[in-house]
Amino acid sequence: MKIRTLAAGLLVGALALTACGKEGTPSTGTGDTGNAAAAPSYTVAANVSVPGSPTFAKMQSKGGVTIGVKDDQPGLGLKDPTTGKYTGFDIEIAKMVAAGLGFDESKITYKTVDSGAREAAISNGDVDYYVGTYTITDKRKQQVSFAGPYFQAGQGLLVRKDDNSITGKDTLKGKKVCSVTGSTPIQRVRDQQLTEPGNIVEFQKYSQCVEKLGTKEVDAVTTDDAILKGFAAQDPDTLKVVGEPFSEEPYGVGLNRDDSALRNKIDDVLQASLDDGTWQKIYDSTLGKSGSTASKPTIQRY
Ligand code: GLU
Repeated sequence: MKIRTLAAGLLVGALALTACGKEGTPSTGTGDTGNAAAAPSYTVAANVSVPGSPTFAKMQSKGGVTIGVKDDQPGLGLKDPTTGKYTGFDIEIAKMVAAGLGFDESKITYKTVDSGAREAAISNGDVDYYVGTYTITDKRKQQVSFAGPYFQAGQGLLVRKDDNSITGKDTLKGKKVCSVTGSTPIQRVRDQQLTEPGNIVEFQKYSQCVEKLGTKEVDAVTTDDAILKGFAAQDPDTLKVVGEPFSEEPYGVGLNRDDSALRNKIDDVLQASLDDGTWQKIYDSTLGKSGSTASKPTIQRY
């Protein structure tokens, strides 16, 4: 275990330092993911060609890739305000895909794009592709396309730890429920009338909802369980995730609707990562650190 930690440390430098915090701690068996929690490094593919992909041609001519991401979702896509560095499961997937397309980390420009701005950012070409808790839906497929899914989440609820009145989606009537503009969870709250229209509070970012939960201006935050668990882990004394997931949120890599060549190529890269263990390493080094497990998704080509 120690050798593995050392090797990982040499490979990924500072990132591994966090994992090395556990160095010297005896392994406690299979449940202990702490020692193995360094993110993998990715082999940058050489001589990549994606015939018929306008987006890939653009990436090649500018010599880099612009990836849309989230910046306030712990464990998934989080930007450190001091270093400007992005971390999380989605960021690793973004990097791994870039490597598969022939771009190393130094050629990546991350652009924060919140939920309500994704379709426009992708179709305008502001980002070459998007990796940020982006659920594949038929409605969105009218404007963009999706490689993947690369993860399966489900809608959940985050509440204050001392609140025992909210236990699931059918206990939200009369409660102020916060979610994000342009997201599938806020749409579901409306469609299923989980609370009254006047009790739905809407922001651009989930971190804004979580802040209002703390100040008791809202009673619950709803979105994907993976996102909510990240916030709860940051503040376990005051926040908790409750109830069972009540939707299916398969995450896709968003890209231009007409660029099926790039979509197929990214599906190939995702499939290879599922087959060769890279996907599992990414999971274990990010979302899996909390002890959660996840089953591998099945890529759905179309
Ligand atoms: N996965 C959901 C969606 O795509 C919620 C998370 C988000 O807003 O990014 O809308």
